[in-house]
Amino acid sequence: MAKLSFCPCTDETCEFNPANHDQGCNLCVEDSVKCREIPKCFFKAAGGDIDTIEDWSFEMFAKTVNDRK
Ligand code: SF4
Repeated sequence: MAKLSFCPCTDETCEFNPANHDQGCNLCVEDSVKCREIPKCFFKAAGGDIDTIEDWSFEMFAKTVNDRK
């Protein structure tokens, strides 16, 4: 499958990256939910610097949103 135009994930070694299968965002979201993490596209939309973030947790996402209010 072609990479999704709005997907900011550049790690094409990740098996969940839409560039590596035909299930769109499904695998990325499924893995994120299992790990209690938020996908990169949401952090980007919330104003987070996705090039430096290392903690993708629900809690860090909430902090990212709150810090940019
Ligand atoms: S949910 Fe995952 S695969 Fe889909 S756009 Fe966001 S980061 Fe990319």
